[in-house]
Amino acid sequence: MSTENEIQSIKHIVIIGAGFAGLKLARKLNNHPSYKITLIDKNNYHQFQPLFYQVAMANLDASNISFPLRNIFQKSKNVTIRVATVTNINAEINTLETSNGDFTYDYLVIATGAVTNYFGNASIEKYCFPMKSTWEALEIRNILLTHFEEAIAADNANTKKLLSVVIVGGGPTGVELSGALAEMKIDTLPLEYPELDFTEMKIYLLEGSAKLLSAMSEASSLKANEYLQKLGVTVMLNTIVKDYNGSQILLQDATSIESTFVIWAAGVKGNIPKGIKTDFISKSHQIKTDSFHRVISKENIFALGDVAFIESDLYPKGYPQLASVAIDQAQNLANNFLRLVKNLPLVPYQYINKGSMATVGRNKAVVDLAIPKLSFHGFFAWFIWMTLHLFLLIGFKNRLIVFINWIYKYITHRQSLALLFPSINSKPEPKI
Ligand SMILES: Cc1cc2nc3c(=O)[nH]c(=O)nc-3n(C[C@H](O)[C@H](O)[C@H](O)COP(=O)(O)OP(=O)(O)OC[C@H]3O[C@@H](n4cnc5c(N)ncnc54)[C@H](O)[C@@H]3O)c2cc1C
Repeated sequence: MSTENEIQSIKHIVIIGAGFAGLKLARKLNNHPSYKITLIDKNNYHQFQPLFYQVAMANLDASNISFPLRNIFQKSKNVTIRVATVTNINAEINTLETSNGDFTYDYLVIATGAVTNYFGNASIEKYCFPMKSTWEALEIRNILLTHFEEAIAADNANTKKLLSVVIVGGGPTGVELSGALAEMKIDTLPLEYPELDFTEMKIYLLEGSAKLLSAMSEASSLKANEYLQKLGVTVMLNTIVKDYNGSQILLQDATSIESTFVIWAAGVKGNIPKGIKTDFISKSHQIKTDSFHRVISKENIFALGDVAFIESDLYPKGYPQLASVAIDQAQNLANNFLRLVKNLPLVPYQYINKGSMATVGRNKAVVDLAIPKLSFHGFFAWFIWMTLHLFLLIGFKNRLIVFINWIYKYITHRQSLALLFPSINSKPEPKI
């Protein structure tokens, strides 16, 4: 039995967001006698964003990359799950408001990730499809399959429009999506839709800068571009989208592309809950923190992962918005919470560049290692990409099912999950 003094010394940490950062922190402090944790997320599951594109392209089921939070903490003595959307933080009185009641905290950790950035263009937001949640990945799959079904009945001009897919943003998401779609076009679609002529299907990847995978080495960027072109993707660099009306994309050079399906993977910004003063928000729309993850001028509010901005001499624009960074920051904060109990000084976060990678398709991936500084591509890079992603997935069952799916696809060249759920669609009907 806990004594009254012990109960009073137990501190309440509220974590907003059960993504890579929030989940890692809660797991690290799981069953610690000095802390009571409330983990709040608007979903009752953790989502593995790096494999969204495989859900969108019908390679994986949504449940393979989502993990129920209550399942993870079912034996926990100190972690409580609350499914709710946080609507406001009252930092002065240590409370927060949610769609499911108010909470008080001793420490607050904001780990709400990032949201799609449309750069203020309402029309692009209205008609383009983002991919920042499992739900949105499923919606992309749905639209794709719906358009194929509609193309069968459409006349020639509209078939082309319905089959064309434009992906905006040549970062890892855009590269992975367009590569997977191109493989689908080669392997599966002609078998499943013999009525359609897939030479009419155009896949465009538009990138505003002069290179794909801008955060990676020149060699990896060029190789990814070469892979995509070989798969039949039209890669357009230095191409800036100005507007989209649901059927025509207007580019900055006044030319246009006809398509009823545009996927927007051109940028993200921090997902900042209401109540954070604008003084603490960076130009990149993230919450400014010190190297101990404390929101500037607040001793008991922390921010981690994609929503957090730590400025350093080497990284004046902040650290990359990556799962590995979110996990490492959560690990550092967890250690600091343990040090607080022992009255030890806090340890600052030190970013370690672990390199980066992206996959384009079967046997085609690019890897940049940081130490030793090395870039490579091809089968070995693809194998490393797969192994790392399997390792990062939560739950043995998910790893096994994803592994079996990948082997199945590798051997048969077939997608297995091309199911249509029309009720998912949330966007206005395209203008054909
Ligand atoms: C398509 C895609 C592919 C990616 N591929 C890679 C990759 O290959 N490698 C890599 O390292 N990184 C990749 N990333 C980036 C990586 O996923 C992020 O860096 C990482 O998810 C950041 O972790 P986080 O904990 O900060 O936020 P997230 O993982 O985004 O978690 C935020 C959580 O907060 C919850 N939330 C948000 N707002 C609220 C609210 N108001 N109330 C309650 N809950 C809320 C959300 O539901 C979510 O669960 C990819 C991202 C995307 C979108």
